[in-house]
Amino acid sequence: MSFSDLPFEVGPVYEGERIRGNQMYVELGGPKIEKHFELTRVKKDKEIEDGKVTIIGPNIKDMEEGGRYPIGILVEVAGPELEEDLEAVFERRIHEFCNFVNGIMHLNQRYTNWMRLSKSLIEKGFNDLTMLGTVLIRLYKAELPIIKKAQVTLITDPEKIGETYDFALEIYNKRDERARSINDEDVDMFYGCVLCQSFAPTHACCITPNRMSLCGSISWFDARAAARVDPKGPLFEVPMGKCLNELAGEFEGVNEMIKKRSLGDIERIYLYSGMEYPHTSCGCFEAIDFFIPETGAGHGIIDRNHDGVAINGLPFSAMANQTGGGKQMPGFNGISMQYIISPKYQKYDGIKSGLDSGIHTIVWMGKTVKDRVYEFLPEDLRDKIATEEEVADLSDLPAWLEKVGHPIIETEEYKAAVSGVEEEEWEEEGAMVPMGTIGMTIPGVGGAGGFKVILKNCKIHAESIIIKKIEPKRKKK
Ligand code: SF4
Repeated sequence: MSFSDLPFEVGPVYEGERIRGNQMYVELGGPKIEKHFELTRVKKDKEIEDGKVTIIGPNIKDMEEGGRYPIGILVEVAGPELEEDLEAVFERRIHEFCNFVNGIMHLNQRYTNWMRLSKSLIEKGFNDLTMLGTVLIRLYKAELPIIKKAQVTLITDPEKIGETYDFALEIYNKRDERARSINDEDVDMFYGCVLCQSFAPTHACCITPNRMSLCGSISWFDARAAARVDPKGPLFEVPMGKCLNELAGEFEGVNEMIKKRSLGDIERIYLYSGMEYPHTSCGCFEAIDFFIPETGAGHGIIDRNHDGVAINGLPFSAMANQTGGGKQMPGFNGISMQYIISPKYQKYDGIKSGLDSGIHTIVWMGKTVKDRVYEFLPEDLRDKIATEEEVADLSDLPAWLEKVGHPIIETEEYKAAVSGVEEEEWEEEGAMVPMGTIGMTIPGVGGAGGFKVILKNCKIHAESIIIKKIEPKRKKK
């Protein structure tokens, strides 16, 4: 496979390249564009014209520098061994293959895909989106030899994208519905994925029936199909091994996998907890589950489509920086939408606080998240979870939770948090410190109310803290 006929370089070395606003020529998709998607479909041999690229809508020459446009990427593939189960996994490779182009940054997946084309790429001669389609076709056939034929359609027309976008949503929904049909107890094998290690070197997804990949695009069925056809590829089997903690979802095999794949950086994972030994997060997660210390044991969820800040005053982008990168970050977890409605969702944290399940820890959700999962939420909880429409200010949240009777208000952690009483001993030996936005009031400093120190993304181990008032030096007489 060669790209020497193209005026730019292509290769895995360019994965992870960032294109900032001032380096960008145009942006395709992303949060400011209403309809955009990427979809891969397995077709019959006769339905594919191998190598064909179709552009529907404005091409590069028609785009204004600094502009934003829709993008629909439809990759259709054929091959005698291909099956529908492989579509989602093939689709996820669009992210990787676009990022192989020096000058293209691709983020996210499905209907949250987001690309930037750099000015230097355009200066080198990238003047036709057909080139991108050609790169995709060549890479698909070279990297996945079971694909024998491929064609690509790129849609940038805001009017014409709608029909295929709706069709893509239908396909995503069907895949998700199927993923919800089994539970972790029904299987004897989990799967792993390291596709995101170019961005987050210590991250590996553990994909189980109840825990869809963080990107929301690879279910247990998809991962199983991919590991079968390419066992040495980025998706692989994870034998569960002995269950070490059923409630937390700790398995010997998963611990071994993360230790190996993170090169020893991470040693154990609780699959069903966001507060102790949580799953690592890359950067492609659909949403973020974040701890709200002011509610004791309560959490919030925000997704990429959220406009503005979450209840903790932070926008998605700021929390994403804190959450991603392959770290294990108690209190900030990258998650998929499907995981929110899983019976295992942060179950360990909920049960430990005396609640019925993990979803009962959720006290606030961005409206875009709530609209998507509303019908799947427990009926008695649905209307007790606030969105920005009910509560926009953190200081109003406890009163609202008490008014609607959210179950969190019965937890000891909530009572302690709202009464201002600190737990005497809140870290068990060996436990990880839940990190969030930790407010610390130091009485007697800076006026009657003290002042607030916000500690973010840190662990502190100290035998004691000494706070001294520094008196101004007196002048020598
Ligand atoms: S988020 Fe996880 S499953 Fe999705 S591509 Fe990245 S590593 Fe793979």
